[in-house]
Amino acid sequence: MQLFPCPFCGLRSEAEFHFGGDSGNARPEGQSAAETATWTDYLYFRRNSRGPASEVWMHMTCGEVFRMDRDTLTHKVSGSAPLSHGGEHVRAAS
Ligand SMILES: [Zn+2]
Repeated sequence: MQLFPCPFCGLRSEAEFHFGGDSGNARPEGQSAAETATWTDYLYFRRNSRGPASEVWMHMTCGEVFRMDRDTLTHKVSGSAPLSHGGEHVRAAS
């Protein structure tokens, strides 16, 4: 079992984490104005790159969402950092 670094709790079992997708995959602005193709791209298409990737993960134990830099080929994690929005940490909805 692999250990993932939560920036708030430290190293924890990978079973405590939930994958949230590629980092930088911004939610389209204005739900009614967004075209179907834009939402399809946002929801379903992933870069799925081989090698270094920046991803969004949630630590289900503390509820925090953060960015993790991970190599998709070797699974080696090179770092993690809190996500922020307007200076506030992003926390998963409860
Ligand atoms: Zn945590």
